[in-house]
Amino acid sequence: MAPPVFRFAPSPNGFLHLGHAYSALLNFDRARETGGRLLLRIEDIDATRCRPEYETAIYEDLAWLGMAWETPVRRQSGHLADYHTALEKLSALGLVYPAFESRAEIAKLVAAREAAGPWPRDPDGAPLYPGTAKSLSADECDRLIDSGAPYALRLDMARACRRVAALTWTELGEGPDGERGIVSARPEAWGDVMLARKETPTSYHLSVVVDDALQGVSEVVRGQDLFHATSVHRLLQVLLDLPEPAYRHHALLLDEAGRKLSKSGRSTGLRELRDAGASPADVRRLVGLGQVSLGVSKTPP
Ligand code: GLU
Repeated sequence: MAPPVFRFAPSPNGFLHLGHAYSALLNFDRARETGGRLLLRIEDIDATRCRPEYETAIYEDLAWLGMAWETPVRRQSGHLADYHTALEKLSALGLVYPAFESRAEIAKLVAAREAAGPWPRDPDGAPLYPGTAKSLSADECDRLIDSGAPYALRLDMARACRRVAALTWTELGEGPDGERGIVSARPEAWGDVMLARKETPTSYHLSVVVDDALQGVSEVVRGQDLFHATSVHRLLQVLLDLPEPAYRHHALLLDEAGRKLSKSGRSTGLRELRDAGASPADVRRLVGLGQVSLGVSKTPP
C-alpha cells in the first residue's frame, strides 16, 4: 500500500508562531509514526499579503525545529493553471456566476436585509452573500466584464448541493464541539462562497482542494479553525471528482488571555523564542508535544 501523505500548508503572510509549530510538528510526527511522506506547501495566492521574506523564514524556522520535507515545495502561485482548470470544470456544470458588488456594496445589501430580520452568517461569523448577482442576465454579465468591472466568481451553493448526495468526512481528530468519526458536511452554511476573483483566478477553498488531490494527500492535519471549511472542501471534492482524504483537526493554542495566537504576537513567534535562547526541544515542550527522539509524542486530539 502507498505510504500516507501529510502536508503542512502555511501562508507566507507573517512569521510562524507556536500555533504553526504545533501544527507542523503534528504533521511531521504523524508522518514519522506511520512511515508516511511529509510535504510542505506554500499557500501564497494572496499577492497583497504574502512576502518572500516570510517564505524564507518558514523554511528557516521549520528546519530549525528539526523538520524535513520533500522537495520541490509546491508554491500555489506557480500553479494557477491547475486551479483555472478546476474552475472551468465547475463553470461547465453551471455552478459558477460572476458577482460585481464591492465589499461595501455587499455590506449595504446585508444591512438592508438585517434591518428586516435575522440574516444568516457563515461558521466564521461573516454574513452570507445575498446572491443578488444571480439575477443579472448573461448579456449584462458580459457587458460588465467587457467594461473591465472587477468581479468575484461565486459558487451557486444551492445548485451545487442539489448535484450531490449527503456529504460526510472522516474526522480523526476533533471539531470545536467535539465532533469526531463520521461527520456530516454542511456546505450550505457557507452560502455562495467565492471561488476566484478577476485578478486572482482561485481562492483558498479551490486551491486547497485541488492541491490536496494533486499531491495525493491522504490525511489533512490542521487547526480546528478550518474544521467547518471542510464542508466546502468535501463538496468541491465531489463536484470535481477528487479523492477524499481523512481529516485530523487539532485544538488551537491560545494565549494567556484565551485568544488565538496571531502572527503579530511577539512572545510566541518562533524567531523571538529562538533569539531569546529557546531550543527546538523547548518549543516541543511549550506546545505540549513529547520528545520525538524518544519516540514519544502526545496523541493529537
Ligand atoms: N494556508 C492555511 C493557513 O495558513 C492552511 C490551509 C490548510 O491547512 O488547509 O491557515
